[in-house]
Amino acid sequence: MASFDILLLPGDGIGPEVMTEARNVLSWLNTQKKTTFQTEEDLVGGSAYDKHKVAISNSAMDKALKADAVLFGAVGGPKWDKVPYEARPEAGLLRLRKDLGLFANLRPAICYKALSDASSLKPELVEGLDILIVRELTGGVYFGEPKEIVTLENGEKRAVDTQVYTTHEIDRIARVAFDLARKRGNKVHSADKRNVMRSGVLWNQVVTAVHAKDYKDVKLEHILADACAMQLVRAPKQFDVIVTDNLFGDMLSDEAAMLTGSIGMLPSAALGAPDAKGRRKAMYEPVHGSAPDIAGKAMANPIAMITSLAMALRYSFDMGEAADLVEKAVTGVLEAGLRTGDIMQPNRKRVTTAEMGKAIVKELDRLAG
Ligand code: NAD
Repeated sequence: MASFDILLLPGDGIGPEVMTEARNVLSWLNTQKKTTFQTEEDLVGGSAYDKHKVAISNSAMDKALKADAVLFGAVGGPKWDKVPYEARPEAGLLRLRKDLGLFANLRPAICYKALSDASSLKPELVEGLDILIVRELTGGVYFGEPKEIVTLENGEKRAVDTQVYTTHEIDRIARVAFDLARKRGNKVHSADKRNVMRSGVLWNQVVTAVHAKDYKDVKLEHILADACAMQLVRAPKQFDVIVTDNLFGDMLSDEAAMLTGSIGMLPSAALGAPDAKGRRKAMYEPVHGSAPDIAGKAMANPIAMITSLAMALRYSFDMGEAADLVEKAVTGVLEAGLRTGDIMQPNRKRVTTAEMGKAIVKELDRLAG
C-alpha cells in the first residue's frame, strides 16, 4: 500500500479551523485502506512568530522539504501588524515558496452548478466553468532587478521594477501547462503582451517552440493578456488552461476566481521542478487569507481547504479517482442545499465549518458505499 507524508501547516485565524476539516477528510481516506497518509503538523505565520520569533522555524522548514506535500491553511492578522518586517506572517509563506522552489502556481476556477447564481455573471455563462490558470510564480517583475526608488538630480523620484524572464523559466512553466492540459481539455491559451514588451516576445517564442517540439497534440492559442481579461468575462467557458507570467497571472487568476462566487471555494497548488523520480515539491493552500473578521466564530467555509487537498491527491499522489470523489462529495453537499455564510442563498440551510466538513465526509461515505 502506498504511503505518503504530509506536513500540515494550519497557520492563523481561520487556518486551523478549515485545516481540521481537511484532516478529517484525510482520516477518512486512510479508512479506505488504499493509501496511508501520515501527517505531521507545525506552526507558520503569526503563531510561529509567537513561539519562535520567526514566521517559520528551520525545523518546520526541514519537515516541509522532506514531506511528499505540504498543506497550508492561512497566515496573518492584525495581532502581528507591528512585528519586524522580516518576521511578518507572510514571510513564512514566501520562504516556503522560495526554499521549495515552487515556480508554478495552479489556480482552478470551477463553478459548481449549485452556486452558478452566486457569480456576478449570468448563470449560463459560468455554469460548468472549469478553467485552470497556470501562473509563473518566482520570476518576472516581482523579482527582477533593479527594483528601486531613486532620487534624481532635480529632486524628482523615479521608481523602477524590472520585468525579466529567461528561456528556461518560460520553458518549464509552459511544460507544466501542456502536461496539465493533456489531463483536462487539451487546450492551452498562452497570455503575454508581446505587442509592447520584449519579455512578451520571448515568452511567445519559447512557448511556441516547446509546443512544436513536445506537445503538438495539445491545442495552443496565443492571446494578449488584456484581451484574455476581456474574454474571461465575455465567454469564460472557451478557456481550459491559461499559462501566463507572474504579474498577468496574479490579475487574471483573481478575475477568473471571482467568476465562481466566494473566495471560500477556491483552492490552489504551487509546484516545483520534478526530481529524478519525477516527483515535484508541492504546497496546496486555499486562495483566501486568515479572515480575522470571522475567525473563531465557526463561520469559515472549509471547501477551499478540502479541495486544495483534492488537488494534492491529483497532482502529488496520482490519485485522480480519489480527487474526483472528494470533489463529487463537495458537489453533493452543495446540491443538498448546505451553505456556510459566505455562500448562503435563500431557502438553503446555513451550517457551521464543522457541519460542512462532517457533511462532506458523510457524502464521501455514501459515494464510496
Ligand atoms: P481574507 O481572504 O482573509 O478575507 C477576505 C474576506 O473573505 C473576509 O471578509 C473574510 O471573512 C472572507 N473569507 C475568506 N475566507 C473565507 C472562508 N473560508 N469562508 C468564509 N469567508 C471567508 O483576506 P483579507 O481580509 O484581505 O486578509 C486577512 C489576513 O489574511 C491579512 O493578514 C492578510 O495579510 C492575510 N492573507 C493571507 C493569505 C495567505 O495566507 N495565503 C492570503 C491573503 C491574505
